[in-house]
Amino acid sequence: MADRLFIGVDLGGTNVVAAAVNERGQILSRHKKRVTKARTREELLDRVCRTIGHAIARADATEKDVVGIGIGAPGPVDIANGVVFEMPNVPVGRVDFRTELEGRFSATCLVENDVNAGTYGEFWRGAGRGKSDVVGVFVGTGTGGGIILGGKLLHGKNGTAGEIGHIVLNPGGPLCGCGRPGCLEALASRTAMQRQVAEAVEGGAETSILELAKGEITKVRSRTFRKALGAGDSLAKRVVRDCAENLGYGAVALVHLLNPECIVFGGGVMEALSEQMLPTIRQVVEERCLAGTADGVEIVPATLWDDAGVLGAAALVMEATGVTLD
Ligand SMILES: [Zn+2]
Repeated sequence: MADRLFIGVDLGGTNVVAAAVNERGQILSRHKKRVTKARTREELLDRVCRTIGHAIARADATEKDVVGIGIGAPGPVDIANGVVFEMPNVPVGRVDFRTELEGRFSATCLVENDVNAGTYGEFWRGAGRGKSDVVGVFVGTGTGGGIILGGKLLHGKNGTAGEIGHIVLNPGGPLCGCGRPGCLEALASRTAMQRQVAEAVEGGAETSILELAKGEITKVRSRTFRKALGAGDSLAKRVVRDCAENLGYGAVALVHLLNPECIVFGGGVMEALSEQMLPTIRQVVEERCLAGTADGVEIVPATLWDDAGVLGAAALVMEATGVTLD
């Protein structure tokens, strides 16, 4: 085949997705596999490699056509060495992806944090296309972020720049997934929204949210809130509004600190609720930012959603192998 082929891998806490991508950013194939059953490093690597193999085969290609493999992984990453230190939702310890994958496929391997990869995808082919200063905020089970300044991903000293979810909004606030109180993620994420519903129900609030989720708080999805809003549920209204306001305060910090051209909101919560949340986020930014600082700063929904991670990971390894992205 004529096209040089790249593989973008989005490794999540539940699934791994691999996509074959050409230099123009077209996705030629996708394959998805569960990783929740992977108990060891070897089992995880085996699942990732088989998923990559299926994506290559589905693109009617062979391993020889693959120039680079980019991986977005859910944890802190040593970018220089292609190592993931740990993945809280895939507890198999440290994984040296670059050495392992370059050993199995004769292709360059690059490893990046998953949210940075997603931000890069939206910057290359999604809502941040054509801009050079873009911040991505991904709101799902947790809340993460990525920062692109002057067209380059910001890594910082330890490669951890962009941990937007752990901006402290309220030092005495609820406990975050990271174990510390009052982070943005503890106030604005699906987990935060579920906790607010559980607390309200315990306090006697009337709501249809739990019914819509078969009575189980852990089954309350982002879509459940949208359904409840559609039915005029007042608790859903309050929880969604609270979450959006807190995301707005996070965006105020981003505008003041970085003055980006564009803040892209992605992730499962935004995919279900961006129409309800973005007006509130924009309103908080307008009211709380210093005069002039937010002028022309676009606050927009993602456009690639699930494809942002694989496209961003592929784009990053393309650049690492000398491809000039358009
Ligand atoms: Zn935190």
